[in-house]
Amino acid sequence: MPTIFEKIIAGEVPAAVLYRDERVIAFLNINPMAPVHVLIVPNKLIPTVNDICNEDESLIGHMVIVARDIAKQQGIAENGYRLIINCNAHGGQEVYHLHMHLIGGRALGPMIQRVK
Ligand code: AMP
Repeated sequence: MPTIFEKIIAGEVPAAVLYRDERVIAFLNINPMAPVHVLIVPNKLIPTVNDICNEDESLIGHMVIVARDIAKQQGIAENGYRLIINCNAHGGQEVYHLHMHLIGGRALGPMIQRVK
């Protein structure tokens, strides 16, 4: 079963696309957690961080470069933002197609809640 992100990459499901090239696509999160919430997704299907190969090193670096440029375009670079990749159940991953969250536009607070 293709994931929702594969359908977006294939153009079968609409998305608010900010950027795309031969390696990645970046689009607005449908359920944003902050004023800016963009997902940077490789066109190639890599289900989780655990499935990244050594040959993907440049692709993963490219995702960060694209995130950097979108942060600048969105006007959040100077104040700052957060890049997140969730992995598997404990990481809270919902869509099993690797993606990086670019979140900003407000102070995001602590990275995770401390649990006693
Ligand atoms: P994760 O928990 O890291 O797997 O995050 C998956 C993210 O994908 C969630 O923040 C969802 O809001 C987002 N999402 C799911 N479906 C869509 C969609 N059709 N377009 C944009 N974002 C989506």
